[in-house]
Amino acid sequence: MATAPAAHGDDSSSDDGSGLEPGAELAEEAARYARLGWMRATSGNLSVVVGTDPVRILVTASGLDKGALTAADVVELDGAGVPTGRTPTGLAATGLAATPSASAGGSRTGDRPRQPSAEAVLHARLIGLTGAAAVVHLRTVASVLAADRFPDGLTLRDHEMLKALGRAAEGDPVRLPVVTNSQDMAVLAERVSAAWEPATPAALIARHGMYVWGADLLAVRHRAEAVEWLCEWAVRTAEQTVSWPR
Ligand SMILES: [Zn+2]
Repeated sequence: MATAPAAHGDDSSSDDGSGLEPGAELAEEAARYARLGWMRATSGNLSVVVGTDPVRILVTASGLDKGALTAADVVELDGAGVPTGRTPTGLAATGLAATPSASAGGSRTGDRPRQPSAEAVLHARLIGLTGAAAVVHLRTVASVLAADRFPDGLTLRDHEMLKALGRAAEGDPVRLPVVTNSQDMAVLAERVSAAWEPATPAALIARHGMYVWGADLLAVRHRAEAVEWLCEWAVRTAEQTVSWPR
C-alpha cells in the first residue's frame, strides 16, 4: 500500500530548480494553468510555504486574471491563513524573495492593495493538515463533472496515471474524496479536513473544482494534471454504455 505522499520533501520531484523567487514562481505557474483553461474568470488560487518557524505562506491575490499575475500579486499569510500585512517588497527585505527578477512585478508594488482569496484559509488548513508546502486550487471542468457523477467520492485503480499521485499502477485503489461546496470557508475547510484521505494528495469540491497539494509547485502541477486526466477518464467512461474491464 502507498503511504502518505504529501509530506515535506517526500517527493522525488520536490526540487523544481526554477530559480525564481516565490511570487514570480506563483505567477508563472498560474499563467501556465490559465493557458490550459483551468483558472478561468480569475478563478482558482495557488499557495506556497515560504517559512516554517513561524509558518508563512504566499497565496495569489484575489480578483486578478490568473494569466497576467506579476510577482507582486501575492499576499503573505500566517499558518492560520490570516494576512501578515507584509508585502513582497517586505519579503525581499528579509531575503526570502530578493532577486532582480522581482522588479517586473515590483514596479507595481503599491499600486493597489492585494487581497487574499477567502479560500486562503483552506490553503492554510491543508498545509497544516497534510504537511504540504504548496497547494493549488483549480476550477477544471472534468473535476466538477466527476464530483457530480461521483458525489460520494471516486475510487480509481489500475491506471498508469496513478503513479503521478505517488500510488501504484496496479492493485492500489485510490480514493479521491468529494465534498459539497460552501460559501463559508470555515465550513468548507472542515469538510475537506474530514474527508481527507492521507494517501491521496487531492480532493474535489462539488460544483467548484479541485484542490491538490504536495512538496512544491512542480510536484503539485504533475498531480493536478493527473487528477484532471483521471477525472476526465472517469466521467467519459461513465458515459459509455459498454462495460470496461475492471
Ligand atoms: Zn474556489
